[in-house]
Amino acid sequence: MIDFKSKIVTTTIMDPREDFARKVIETEVRFDPLTGDSGRLAHFGIYRPHKEDFSAWDTPENRSRCPFCPSNIETLTPRYPQELLPQGHLHRGETTLLPNISPYDQFSALAVMSRNHVVPLKNLTHSLIKDAFGAGLDFFQIIAAKERKLAYHIISWNYMPPSGGGIIHPHLQVIISDLPGNLYRKTLESSERYFQRYRQNFWQELCNTEAERGERFIGQLARSCWLSAYTPLGVMGEFLGVFPQIHTIFDVDETIIDELAEGLKRLFRYFESMDIYSFNLGLFFAPAGSEEYYSLHARIIPRFFLNPIQRPPDVNALQMVLQEPFTVVRPEVQCIEAKHFW
Ligand SMILES: [Zn+2]
Repeated sequence: MIDFKSKIVTTTIMDPREDFARKVIETEVRFDPLTGDSGRLAHFGIYRPHKEDFSAWDTPENRSRCPFCPSNIETLTPRYPQELLPQGHLHRGETTLLPNISPYDQFSALAVMSRNHVVPLKNLTHSLIKDAFGAGLDFFQIIAAKERKLAYHIISWNYMPPSGGGIIHPHLQVIISDLPGNLYRKTLESSERYFQRYRQNFWQELCNTEAERGERFIGQLARSCWLSAYTPLGVMGEFLGVFPQIHTIFDVDETIIDELAEGLKRLFRYFESMDIYSFNLGLFFAPAGSEEYYSLHARIIPRFFLNPIQRPPDVNALQMVLQEPFTVVRPEVQCIEAKHFW
């Protein structure tokens, strides 16, 4: 039932690189199999990430100014009121979860992942990832027991400066809201429509279909499938970790968090091999009542500077003004590359 629609459009130019010979250039427009939203695949091979070493930022001066470093975290970061969180902060392994001093929503927490100020991809260990997401889950459960009306649970991550992360010290955003935001709302509505039409869960069907086709199926773990996205949201593609049989925050136990960390670790090893050192991540849970048609899934979108000199971000008018994703890599090629790390 899942349809992978695309359309090729062409431009003819007289190419100065080939003595002004006639040349036809193709752009592929793809339509997201869930939402129908379009995205463009073009400019193949024109950009690639350039590895940056951020360890130079790990200086005593920078650490002394960072609110998340161990010498500051207890004095410079806010605490939750006692009725909400008796200790003010929530701890798990190296993670400290605390309220965002500039909240995005009613519950907008940060999970500071490590004691170290700068954590390059290779040092993001399984336990750092697991404890940070685990702390987010703990927080969800605590708040859910008090505020039952807030349906939407999201964990997001801006890792390293190209992703828009303002503080290099690694931290997750842990958000609970009665407003899902546009993408979450759109995927919820589309998943419900898909279920009404086919009586099937889209996310389960996506895993099944991609496993059969193989073109974007990177691999699977016990409860999850890992894919490159057909219509990526990022210039350097997009990856999905889907747990088709896991839905709300109450379905997520230690084994699921463990598996999420394992999948991410494998993906990060692939990123390292491609010099990708920054990404945005979103982890979406099914709101209560949507268990039949919505499943837990993570989106991981690599981010980079288009060039290392002026460092332009990889988001420009196409994405900002037209809200049109644009990708310079083929998800099917990325899938083959990523499989080596599975
Ligand atoms: Zn720090």
